Amino acid sequence: QKEITRLPNWLQTPIPNNANYKSIKRDLRGLNLHTVCEEARCPNISDCWGGSDKSAATATIMLMGDTCTRGCRFCSVKTSKAPPPLDPHEPEHTAEALKRWGLGYVVLTSVDRDDLADGGANHFAETIMKIKSKAPSMLVEALTGDYAGDLKMVAKVARSGLDVYAHNVETVEELTPMVRDRRAKFRQSLSVLKHAKEAKEGLITKTSIMLGLGETEEQLWNTLKELRNIDVDVVTFGQYMRPTKRHMPVHTYVTPAVFEAWRQRALDMGFLYCASGPLVRSSYKAGEAFIENVIK
Ligand code: SF4
Ligand code: SF4
Repeated sequence: QKEITRLPNWLQTPIPNNANYKSIKRDLRGLNLHTVCEEARCPNISDCWGGSDKSAATATIMLMGDTCTRGCRFCSVKTSKAPPPLDPHEPEHTAEALKRWGLGYVVLTSVDRDDLADGGANHFAETIMKIKSKAPSMLVEALTGDYAGDLKMVAKVARSGLDVYAHNVETVEELTPMVRDRRAKFRQSLSVLKHAKEAKEGLITKTSIMLGLGETEEQLWNTLKELRNIDVDVVTFGQYMRPTKRHMPVHTYVTPAVFEAWRQRALDMGFLYCASGPLVRSSYKAGEAFIENVIK
């Protein structure tokens, strides 16, 4: 596949500079919390952290280490068959630090841990329960893996007290074998989302799709229909960006107008809300969107 080297101007981003963002960054020092926002140098940091008030600010925290047992072709996280063991104090420390930080909405995510019998579901659920007991007003979204299709583990996380259960299908079914690790299956991801919704009444479910991998319009329509059929509430669309030359090339840079058209279509199909744009990541301004569309 031919590589596109020039980045369109809509992907060139300004340096974050915003009073609230700076104050949140100051708060973080000494808390010993590592955010994906900072570590991945996410271009949305001033949008997510820099809204007008901290109670709607969103940050993403990675749990269970920095080494994944899978190797998706779009992802730059390190891979190993045997990552280091879990830190048993992580749930308590994370909850305590988040309470002190006091932001409104946290997205907890993790690497996939196929090396653990429960895929890390108990650790994830314990972290959520501790956050909710120490900081009951904090909204929690969990962005989980597929637990190798083990629906008991999905239910465990879904019933842990979280507000939003997110699991990303990442792409259309036809491209899944080329894009995701071979153990990640499109149908398995749908069953995770379906089961999370059924496991806990009122739980919001969410998924994210990267555009620009070569998906067709028809494939994307069909994907959205399948997601609505299992009552997924929220969908986000962002541009696939190639992390290094060893990763899959970008097929297309999708224009902002096309992203906006997909956002509108998703809303017309009945999704509760939808973030869609070239720089959007699944956690993009998730706190603001939740407060505007679910709480109000
Ligand atoms: Fe952090 Fe996600 Fe927002 Fe990026 S999009 S700044 S990772 S919360
Ligand atoms: Fe990256 Fe997640 Fe795939 Fe692991 S499972 S390689 S963290 S996208």
